Amino acid sequence: MDECLFCKMVAGDIPADVVYQDDDVLAFRDINPQAPVHVLIIPKRHISTLNDLTPDDAGLIGKLSLAAAKIAQQEGIADAGYRTLINTNREGGQVVFHIHMHLMGGRRMGWPPG
Ligand code: C5P
Repeated sequence: MDECLFCKMVAGDIPADVVYQDDDVLAFRDINPQAPVHVLIIPKRHISTLNDLTPDDAGLIGKLSLAAAKIAQQEGIADAGYRTLINTNREGGQVVFHIHMHLMGGRRMGWPPG
């Protein structure tokens, strides 16, 4: 996806503050953090939204959660707690159309979210 911002980060064409990566997953600090720790965890392969997943992507999506738990340990927020979420489409608040899991922590999260 030539015009996808996050694909450009995966390719190294746009700088990212990377905190974790493996063959399938890239994680970097959100440019506009909403919590002391705010990391975005993305599949390196372009998938626009959760609606575009196929059964073949089940393992890949699982890897986002495994990466989130690993990064939470790395960032020292695992025991206190943290929030992970994926926004989907307009009413879900999705702005960048390359699936990303938000990992937020370092403060107490409110509920319900806005
Ligand atoms: O879930 P949603 O699509 O709204 O989240 C997009 C996120 O990508 C925002 O939190 C925004 O701050 C982040 N972003 C970023 N780097 C960019 C552009 C957006 O971290 N260059």
